[in-house]
Amino acid sequence: MASILELKCTVCGRSYAPDAVEYTCPVCGEVGTLDVLYDYDALKKSLDRDEISTSRAMWMWRYRALMPLLPDSAVPPLRVGWTPFYDAPRMADMLGVKRAWVKDDGANPTGSLKDRASAMVVARAMEQGIKTVSTASTGNAAAALAGIGASVGLDTIIFVPATAPEAKIAQLLVYGAKVLLIEDTYDVAFDLCMQVSQQEGWYCRNTGVNPFTTEGKKTAAYEIAEQRGWDVPDVVVVSVGDGSIIGGLHKGFYDLHKLGWIQRIPRLIGVQSETSAPLVDAWENGLDAAQMQPMEAHSIADSIVAGLPRDRVKALRAVRDTQGAYVTVSDEQILAAIPQFARLTGVFAEPAAAAAFAGARRAVETGFIEPSDAVVILSTGNGLKDVKRAQQSVSGGVRVQPNLEAIKRVLRAE
Ligand SMILES: *Cc1c(COP(=O)(O)O)cnc(C)c1O
Ligand SMILES: [Zn+2]
Repeated sequence: MASILELKCTVCGRSYAPDAVEYTCPVCGEVGTLDVLYDYDALKKSLDRDEISTSRAMWMWRYRALMPLLPDSAVPPLRVGWTPFYDAPRMADMLGVKRAWVKDDGANPTGSLKDRASAMVVARAMEQGIKTVSTASTGNAAAALAGIGASVGLDTIIFVPATAPEAKIAQLLVYGAKVLLIEDTYDVAFDLCMQVSQQEGWYCRNTGVNPFTTEGKKTAAYEIAEQRGWDVPDVVVVSVGDGSIIGGLHKGFYDLHKLGWIQRIPRLIGVQSETSAPLVDAWENGLDAAQMQPMEAHSIADSIVAGLPRDRVKALRAVRDTQGAYVTVSDEQILAAIPQFARLTGVFAEPAAAAAFAGARRAVETGFIEPSDAVVILSTGNGLKDVKRAQQSVSGGVRVQPNLEAIKRVLRAE
């Protein structure tokens, strides 16, 4: 419903007409990711946040008036978005903050926040009569594209590192995607996907490079604001790989602020694994995105491994413009965070998602989060995505003979 006013390069500021460019700024190349911008003054007059709050569309399309779609365009049927938002008082106590909530995006149809971007890109493909969509992914973006593509009969072609967790690869195959298990890193798979897609004429969903991914992910911020009654928290903490989610959150809050629906934009805190931390490095050293060089990256949290984050411009801007911060956590802390977070909130998160909780603890220690803050932890992916790591994070379970005597003996011993 919202017609795009312009596509604006995040690096050089050049403005393009909505259909003039498909991916990144032709002048800046791949680093020049685009912002999708609207006529906020017109939207301010025609839209009313309280009207949206009465919508019974319990999915991300409740915000379609703020999304780049024509009025009558169809959207894929899977129920993406409007994920649960839980008050988590025991987590607040544990962190030592005033209040804390969990936004559980692991509850999306394919189990991660990536469904928001894939639904947006698939809706766009449907609008344009496109039949084949491709993506490179560490796993979740691919599962999201495969699942949402399957819901409307799109052909999907996926480039994933061969080392992606089994459950994620199984998901792709179950949904019927064509799966290329690239025997190299995600960064290599990303470049290959881009090249082959351009040669074959496929529409490419690659994170960051496709500006509509941000427009899908921003709906998580809209929901946080609305689920808080438009009284935004002080801080939102999220784990970061390519930087597209944190950039999307920033865009979502930016839109709402422009519309006058929220009073301020929360501080955004990005969490990276210390063995895959190019954005932390750039932020601490005051580097521009264009100065960042590819680095070797690995972590048990596969979803946040990116040696050259593709949405680095938006990711750095999100933290700098909101007076937020970037923090690192170790892989040991990430693993330990899986059961800690689950026991405090009831939310079972995959390693990359649990990393946000570990990062919140770190940010409290370093003073980036203060005791008076109200904090949202965005849980980006479901724990069942990576059962192997979940098993490594816990012990227990007692083998016992099937009789009362034996059971009582075991219970008394505990
Ligand atoms: C993709 C992903 C992230 C990181 O998102 P970026 O946009 O790459 O920064 C974090 N957690 C999970 C579960 C993800 O799938
Ligand atoms: Zn540019």
